[in-house]
Amino acid sequence: MNPSERIREHYRALAEATVAKRAADCYREGRLDRESWQRLADEGLWRLSMPAQYGGDGGTWWDFIAAFEGIAIGGRDLGFNLSLVAHAGLLRSTLIYLSPQQLERYLPPLISGAVGATALTEPQGGSDVARVRTCATRVRNGFIIDGQKDHITHGPVADLALVLGRLPEIGDRDISLFLVDMTAPGVERGEVEDMIGNRSSPTGPFRLSQVALPADALVGCPGNGLQIIYDTISLDRLLYGVLAAAYLEPILTDTLQYARERIAFKYPIIDYQYVQGRLTDLQMAIDTTRAVSYRALEALLQEDPQANMLCSIAKYQGAENLRTGTEHAFRVMGHLGYMRGPVAQQLIDAYGTLIAGGTAEMQRKNIFNQMLHTQGAVV
Ligand SMILES: Cc1cc2nc3c(=O)[nH]c(=O)nc-3n(C[C@H](O)[C@H](O)[C@H](O)COP(=O)(O)OP(=O)(O)OC[C@H]3O[C@@H](n4cnc5c(N)ncnc54)[C@H](O)[C@@H]3O)c2cc1C
Repeated sequence: MNPSERIREHYRALAEATVAKRAADCYREGRLDRESWQRLADEGLWRLSMPAQYGGDGGTWWDFIAAFEGIAIGGRDLGFNLSLVAHAGLLRSTLIYLSPQQLERYLPPLISGAVGATALTEPQGGSDVARVRTCATRVRNGFIIDGQKDHITHGPVADLALVLGRLPEIGDRDISLFLVDMTAPGVERGEVEDMIGNRSSPTGPFRLSQVALPADALVGCPGNGLQIIYDTISLDRLLYGVLAAAYLEPILTDTLQYARERIAFKYPIIDYQYVQGRLTDLQMAIDTTRAVSYRALEALLQEDPQANMLCSIAKYQGAENLRTGTEHAFRVMGHLGYMRGPVAQQLIDAYGTLIAGGTAEMQRKNIFNQMLHTQGAVV
């Protein structure tokens, strides 16, 4: 299956008229473009892949992906799309793991413009999520939760957060997931972090101090937190691949145009093989990343046992190809690429994808473990 051209084009034009217009201001000010976020929600972005019984359009994640690609191409703000990834992962988890009663409560705001976060990382580290220290205790009407989360996309601005924490009373396998209303008493949002890139995707810490959660804040079964989070993260991971391919498309167009117009040694630089090599590498980065990401989505939707591995491959390839692809553009531009501006910013933003959503090393580790698990599956 392929994403709908009609949906992609609709959201491309919309993002060009909204996200792209405010991207530079939001980047400078380190804030999420809430206006575009709301506009996209009003337009139906989050309803595209939601079942009709919950107010959605009854489509699939392919429809969301078409829109997501359109926003990456028209908006040209990697950070804004990273924000969309964070929200999409949360939506997928809620859809799969919440009961119909929970969905009635939590889903409507999430598809109408609320901002979601998925909070795993803590001050002691992000890769080894099983070391999480955030801790909940059961009380008569629900839970009380305490903890500190760091480097969370939307941490300083989210309305609702999916929080990984422990529930020690259930024994050793106690890692569980909770939905936290970020406006509840005891939630203290930190300052937006001073990251070197993706500054339009506000990322930062928050602290939970004796926050009272209702009983229906528990997602899935107690103790199933890690399994649910790996599932959530699978969609996030392949979205990095989809994003890389879409985001590089207009970069390739710009770079081709520049190479045609820039003259050196009497000829346009596009005539030189070393430059052509950079351009062909960019084209191949787009096509290979897109192919593996689409394959990963197909596998995820069909519950194929290889889905987890393919999602990690999509994430790994997406982040690496984004880094090398933006670097090709940067180098073809010569000194102009090194000036403060969009070409240098693209490269700096791309580096963030090597860390966010799990580092490149952790993707390799996951791919290797999955290879062993599926007994030498060929990829
Ligand atoms: C833009 C951005 C957005 C983010 N958004 C979120 C978010 O929404 N939610 C969230 O929970 N977190 C988020 N993070 C945090 C991110 O998930 C973590 O930074 C990441 O998981 C790495 O954790 P760490 O920084 O603590 O590095 P560490 O875990 O301390 O790792 C340090 C280095 O050691 C390597 N390493 C660690 N263990 C191994 C191993 N077993 N084998 C090989 N190498 C290893 C790592 O790959 C890395 O290179 C975000 C980060 C960024 C940059």
